[in-house]
Amino acid sequence: MRDIQMVDLKSQYLKIKEEVDERIGGVLDTSTFINGPEVRRFQTELETYLDVKHVIPCANGTDALQIAMMALGLKPGDEVITTTFTFVATAEVIALLGLTPVLVDADPESFLISIEQLEAAITPKTKAIVPVHLFGQCADMEAIMELAEKHNLFVIEDGAQSIGSSFHFKNGDSKASGTIGDFGCTSFFPSKNLGCYGDGGAIFTNDDQLADKARMIVNHGMKVRYYHDEIGVNSRLDSIQAAVLSVKLKNLNHYSNERRRAAWHYDQELKDIDGIITPKRVINSCHVFHQYTLKLNGIDRAALQEYLMAKGIPAMIYYPVPLHQQKAYQDDRYKDGQFPVAEQLAKEVLSLPMHSELDEEQLFYITNTIKEFIKEKI
Ligand SMILES: *Cc1c(COP(=O)(O)O)cnc(C)c1O
Repeated sequence: MRDIQMVDLKSQYLKIKEEVDERIGGVLDTSTFINGPEVRRFQTELETYLDVKHVIPCANGTDALQIAMMALGLKPGDEVITTTFTFVATAEVIALLGLTPVLVDADPESFLISIEQLEAAITPKTKAIVPVHLFGQCADMEAIMELAEKHNLFVIEDGAQSIGSSFHFKNGDSKASGTIGDFGCTSFFPSKNLGCYGDGGAIFTNDDQLADKARMIVNHGMKVRYYHDEIGVNSRLDSIQAAVLSVKLKNLNHYSNERRRAAWHYDQELKDIDGIITPKRVINSCHVFHQYTLKLNGIDRAALQEYLMAKGIPAMIYYPVPLHQQKAYQDDRYKDGQFPVAEQLAKEVLSLPMHSELDEEQLFYITNTIKEFIKEKI
């Protein structure tokens, strides 16, 4: 059996090696490392894949969020609402820009931002909502867009974990994750569902003016070289990463299906075990399983994690500390116990290996090892 990893980038690479090597070789041959034709090509391919008007590639997913907020003209003092149960980048850029992050609790079953709490957190100072499509399925974008319209708020989707997923509206429309709000942001970090071989990210929008502005900001706020109309940043996707992404984008639906196949296996084998709660699928989004995250109830998580590790199975805790309890985000507005769902999730969650290269043998080995642990403990 091949070694089991949380994410198996090497096995995935070997299957597309010839094409990837050739395309990277092409970049080396032309030596247009920044803003070369490969970047343009990937941008167009992704626009088609997502059915969105504008893709603006950038250097990473964190920058994507920051640039989106800059392009919307958010100003210090503006309140931006997001979930406390997410990766730090979401709140980090809000704080970096001098905006005020307003955190709200998660839904205990879907792990996604709680719509009730989101609505309750809206004040006259609120300017934007940043839903996070955590672990690979979309937050309730129908409810979020309704709230945004009612209160005149911007919506920036953090789709770093959800590329390939889509949201289904009640009227039958379906839209790709990240193409619903004013902006959508994603990350091409290697372990993400569409990962490159370094850092990368992108911003999506259907608004021509916002696209224009974001395109200027990624490149030092200039449209005409050396004429700077905005304060910008340097955040570019390089041509080698674009070449890799272009090859991998063709396989993204296959990768998503393989992740779902692994999730299906986990579901079938684990759903009847007392104390293990398999992840819920919300009805209005398809799930691309960036993570397959269990909740443990009455099972010693540390002991299980250690047991699995000893048998060569990595399992990770995403995330061990909600944002309002992180040292850097201490704030008089928040105290322990404020967001009970996120605090409870942080104690209960355990994510199993999840990627496109898990074979039957590995999957059965993982679920049988979990069953062995449960049997030994009772
Ligand atoms: C990975 C991630 C980011 C940041 O992406 P980088 O490319 O690592 O900067 C932002 N938000 C979420 C939810 C993420 O998982």
